[in-house]
Amino acid sequence: MQSINPFTGQIVEEYREYTSSEVEKIIIQVDQAFQSWKQTSFVERAVCMKNLQAKLLERKAELASIMTSEMGKVLREAIGEIEKCALVCGFYAENAESFLKNEPIITEASESYVTYQPIGTVFAVMPWNFPFWQVFRFLAPALMAGNTGVLKHASNVPGCALAIEQLVRDAGFPENVFRTLLIASSSVKAVIENPFIKAVTLTGSTPAGKSVASIAGSALKKSVLELGGSDPYLILEDADIETAARLCVTSRLLNAGQSCIGAKRFIIADKIYDSFKTEFVRLMAQATYGDPLDLQTTIGPLARVDLRDELHLQVERSREMGATVLLGGFVPEGNAAFYPPTVLENVVPGMPAYHEELFGPVAVLFRFKTEEEAIRTANDTVFGLGAGIFTADLAKGKMLAEKGLEAGCVFVNDFVKSDPRLPFGGIKGSGYGRELSVVGIREFMNVKTVVVK
Ligand code: NAP
Repeated sequence: MQSINPFTGQIVEEYREYTSSEVEKIIIQVDQAFQSWKQTSFVERAVCMKNLQAKLLERKAELASIMTSEMGKVLREAIGEIEKCALVCGFYAENAESFLKNEPIITEASESYVTYQPIGTVFAVMPWNFPFWQVFRFLAPALMAGNTGVLKHASNVPGCALAIEQLVRDAGFPENVFRTLLIASSSVKAVIENPFIKAVTLTGSTPAGKSVASIAGSALKKSVLELGGSDPYLILEDADIETAARLCVTSRLLNAGQSCIGAKRFIIADKIYDSFKTEFVRLMAQATYGDPLDLQTTIGPLARVDLRDELHLQVERSREMGATVLLGGFVPEGNAAFYPPTVLENVVPGMPAYHEELFGPVAVLFRFKTEEEAIRTANDTVFGLGAGIFTADLAKGKMLAEKGLEAGCVFVNDFVKSDPRLPFGGIKGSGYGRELSVVGIREFMNVKTVVVK
């Protein structure tokens, strides 16, 4: 396994993959750790989780630079990502006990209630795009709930995977409550089928989700899937154009456009289409790509050259089929996996840019005449992760958010962000189940009914 710096093209480090007997041994050790970890109190777990929060903040510069060198995220955003991981640790350290307290239910019995009990070791298969945050939003609730975890991280971020394992150890958690497995995706099936693994959570692409879900289904193990997205943003004719364009561009360019909840499709009212387009293209053109360690850089390279080339192919194929490229749309010279901010219009059904997730700084503009047409275009996708609406009419914004858009979350007059307090997840091809908040921590619990006659 190799970490390759996508800015320099150089190998950062090489790692040996674990053998299947090493993997089996680790899983047994993690199960043994579960047997005592599940008996600990919330107070004991919270002490470890608060230590983990402190360690993240103490080491944020060092941890952020591992991310930047392995997948090209600009350092400024990498530091913010570590701070967000610290936030989710604090959030679950403080709230897990109340989220999981017994709930009395009135029946004819003398006492009846629901109790939330941990189920054992949860297997997490994670992507490279937010290599710390994706893991921590699983890890913090899982460990606070009394579960244990094993991680198979994306193959291009083994340094991040090992750094997370070490942090958990350094925070004083008992040995083996959380372990990293350096394995390829071909070994995922055997891990899911291992009898000591009780459930699986995957964040990644739709094909990976389908594969993991079918293996988990035939092994009768619960799965949570956080998959891709092609988030639509409706810009209604009463929207504040400058604010809408600024927030839409921010969302589209965050993490060099490699975010599942990045704003990807912009569906704009006919009357304001031209003025929104002018402002949007102006702001996209201002973004600079360059050295991710430079604090002035807006976007770094994409995580891998092959991913950049795939994105460019989606743009090229759409252009050949009649799409107009308003900005960008070329592969810059050099070794770095850069892709410039790109804007497309005249995109119609049949083109890759209409149907597929564009995992990079590429935006697609659509025009609508009626709200029905806007909703139809927004929902004409296999995905259903996030969505946004910009309008001065909040009642209408809420109505369209609740009843119109097919998505797991909708933000009105802002772009979609994950937040430890709010449930996060999608519908349709974007997956099922939820992470974060009270809902997320209950996903991997035995919701046990107790009745006392
Ligand atoms: P990916 O290729 O699906 O990889 C994600 C993880 O799954 C990696 O650990 C990968 O391992 C593993 N994997 C890939 N194919 C597999 C298979 N057939 N069976 C089992 N495991 C498999 O996705 P990615 O390119 O890393 O991440 C980008 C995708 O993730 C985008 O679609 C993005 O929208 C989505 N995403 C979703 C969310 C969300 O919360 N909904 C958040 C972030 C990203 P290897 O690296 O070894 O192949």
